[in-house]
Amino acid sequence: MSTISIESVTKRFPNGFEALKGISTEIAAGSFTVILGPSGAGKSTLLRLLNGLEIPSGGSIRIAGEALDKGNLRKLRSSVAMVFQQFNLVDRLSVVTNVLTGRLAHRSWVGSVFYLFRTEDMDIAQQALARVGLTDKAWSRADKLSGGQQQRVGIARALAQRPKVILADEPVASLDPVSSEEIMGLLREIRDRDGITVVVNLHQVDLAKRFADRIIGMNSGRVVFDGPPAELSPQA
Ligand code: ADP
Ligand code: ADP
Repeated sequence: MSTISIESVTKRFPNGFEALKGISTEIAAGSFTVILGPSGAGKSTLLRLLNGLEIPSGGSIRIAGEALDKGNLRKLRSSVAMVFQQFNLVDRLSVVTNVLTGRLAHRSWVGSVFYLFRTEDMDIAQQALARVGLTDKAWSRADKLSGGQQQRVGIARALAQRPKVILADEPVASLDPVSSEEIMGLLREIRDRDGITVVVNLHQVDLAKRFADRIIGMNSGRVVFDGPPAELSPQA
């Protein structure tokens, strides 16, 4: 089980700015958690710490009981997939090739070249595309797709990694309201069907309330709310 434990985590950047001022919380395996807060609250910084992209200045993070430290970063990272606000696709490559990069992320470059041609990986990539409803777009160029479709590719790429946890950093901030609903619904469905722990950063209160099991509210590097959506005050 991939419960994420965050204990007294702080993050101070080299310029002295303290983006996280002591975060303690636990994210249950198989939950759908929204980290809600305004721009600058520290949401991205927290997700980057959970994925090992940044190292905490203080405190500790454990995923499934294992400390996230330099020794096992590589191993833990392979079980944690990221979804980004700007999708982070390679525009000129096909959709399916973009999805395959989810399988390559944790391999050496030389290993990757051979890996690409393994049919097993192609099957996994195609399955992931089927999960997000984009089978018919597999060989389209990524930049020919709409924003909502591109984010589906981003999610398929995460799924192809066969992760235990998906971290989504403002995945709908670049999308229109209809696509935003669809992407949130898709992330929820992935949690429901695959049991993957999903953590989503959002700044929209309405979306957080509709989709989250649990909301962790952040402001100025601190947790200011932690509970089910029903307990969030209407004016929040
Ligand atoms: P959010 O995702 O909630 O918008 P961020 O985690 O991106 O918040 O940023 C939190 C604060 O930390 C912001 O004030 C941002 O400018 C600052 N910050 C982020 N990264 C750095 C960095 N590398 N160096 C200095 N300050 C940073
Ligand atoms: P977002 O809020 O969309 O996550 P930002 O514009 O805050 O993105 O940050 C983009 C990048 O710039 C991140 O890698 C972040 O760490 C870095 N960054 C943000 N604020 C600062 C800052 N004040 N000084 C240095 N780097 C920063």
